[in-house]
Amino acid sequence: MSAELIASTRATEEAERLLTICNACRYCEGYCPVFPAMTEHRSFDASTVYYLANLCHQCTACYHACQYKPPHQFDVNLPPVFSAIRAQTFAEFVWPAAAAPLFRHNGRFAAIVVTLTVVLLSLAMNLWTAPGTLASSHTGPGAFYAVLPHSWMAGIAGVIVLFGMASVLVSSIRFAHHCGLTRRHLLSPAHWRATITAVATLQYLGGGHGDGCHNEDTHNSNLRRHFHQFTMWGFGLCFLATATAAVYELWLGRLSPFPYFSLPVLFGTSGGVGLVIGTGGLLWLKRRAHPQALPQDASNLDNALLVQLMLVSVSGLLLLALRESSAMPWLLIIHLGLVYGFFVTLPFSKFVHGLYRTLALLRYGPGLLQQP
Ligand code: SF4
Ligand code: SF4
Repeated sequence: MSAELIASTRATEEAERLLTICNACRYCEGYCPVFPAMTEHRSFDASTVYYLANLCHQCTACYHACQYKPPHQFDVNLPPVFSAIRAQTFAEFVWPAAAAPLFRHNGRFAAIVVTLTVVLLSLAMNLWTAPGTLASSHTGPGAFYAVLPHSWMAGIAGVIVLFGMASVLVSSIRFAHHCGLTRRHLLSPAHWRATITAVATLQYLGGGHGDGCHNEDTHNSNLRRHFHQFTMWGFGLCFLATATAAVYELWLGRLSPFPYFSLPVLFGTSGGVGLVIGTGGLLWLKRRAHPQALPQDASNLDNALLVQLMLVSVSGLLLLALRESSAMPWLLIIHLGLVYGFFVTLPFSKFVHGLYRTLALLRYGPGLLQQP
């Protein structure tokens, strides 16, 4: 048996042991959907453990509240075990399967890909552009395409995004099948309503009482919920910026860069600022998190995604601020390299947690937990 498989089997067995204790105790059942969902089971096979681990959002409330946490002999500490199992599900269901080890070395993988995309794009532009192009300012409609032709910019992005979409779609279908999501859940309006509400409002990050998660101690705070909201909605607004920019260019015949008060720029600026606040806040909270409840390997996966999102947003905002200066060509190349690198790594990053968690919530549906 490989070391990886032994580790994954141990995590599943440990989760089974802990869930059996929790199922008898049930002290934490008001905190999150994990505990009400757990009570529907008497035993915990791998697919149930995968489902419950992906319902967990790592608030650590059960760690801080537990009377059986270490040094008690029961040694109950659910958050790091669930975190290891979530990483295991990402690797187990990923398509293509050969990409599974990338989740184990996610920080290094993301750093290498992003560096390569930025360096290769810089070299290609240095060779392709006429002398002086990268050292001069370019203004007015179509200025960006003086640096990188539209067909290249859109063609590279199209290939990367299509592959990423196919990968996360296949991975999500595999996970949904394994975690017990059935046609009954998929066809239930009540399940969809509850899931959309929970995702849009990040309802469960309220901690079961509306006062928020725990972080470094038993103190409640909604900061984690708010930083997640900045990140999620910031990402959504950046997606809207790209979509509206495509409409402007393809249907309205207007070329970027667009005026400061056009829809793509307004969406992009607010999304970028949201992402900087959200990712910066989440990274700051992680540094303060209780070390026993938030293991290092979880931070590696989280930090890789957060740092990439922050770099993309900061470079995008800088490009917007300096787009009429001679720094624009290099800022554009760096920003595009970071964006391409982000989308190459996306199917093999913590991003899939959002999809798997949504699918687990869809199975849970209205559940038994009513929260503010
Ligand atoms: S985490 Fe501890 S307190 Fe909470 S249900 Fe499990 S055993 Fe009980
Ligand atoms: S860490 Fe939070 S979300 Fe996860 S099981 Fe414990 S209470 Fe539930």
